[in-house]
Amino acid sequence: MSAAVTAYLLLGSNLGDRAALLAAAREQLALAAGELMASSALYETAAWGREDQPAFLNQALAVRTTLTPHELLAHCLATEQRAGRQRLERWGSRTLDVDILLYGPEIIDAPTLTVPHPRLAERRFALVPLAEIAGSVLHPVRHTSIAELLAICPDPLAVKPWPGR
Ligand code: ADP
Ligand code: MG
Repeated sequence: MSAAVTAYLLLGSNLGDRAALLAAAREQLALAAGELMASSALYETAAWGREDQPAFLNQALAVRTTLTPHELLAHCLATEQRAGRQRLERWGSRTLDVDILLYGPEIIDAPTLTVPHPRLAERRFALVPLAEIAGSVLHPVRHTSIAELLAICPDPLAVKPWPGR
């Protein structure tokens, strides 16, 4: 246990009933990780680097947690497992992906956990939902707000608002 921190997570799904999988993940994470402070709308984006795969739905969450970063990661991975995720290939289709984007202002560079998420600033599908709930939050490595990172993000993939949550 550590002092309460606001962590930002990104949920993603491109297999099965994507919106239902995200909703179930949201509930499980709220129970396991702490209080759910905010959740973005859902956004749909073509699979990054893989045009032969179904499109992803993504959503960003803010959770107030007393879990350590590695404990939080363990809950993220357990939530993926409960959604029936199988790791078949890198960047393959998945029922559920749960990534830690930010853990307060902490910078973590461990073998199984890198925070801020190393590809956050390059991925519009992560920045768009995150900016909705954390636009003024500073990226602790880039020393730039999430809204500013989105404004300069070169990722060409369109991130479209998806009806419902
Ligand atoms: P990706 O999300 O990049 O498509 P995976 O979901 O298959 O990849 O995750 C593979 C591993 O990445 C996880 O088992 C975890 O140990 C590691 N990892 C490193 N940093 C993070 C992070 N910030 N959030 C989630 N997983 C991370
Ligand atoms: Mg992941």
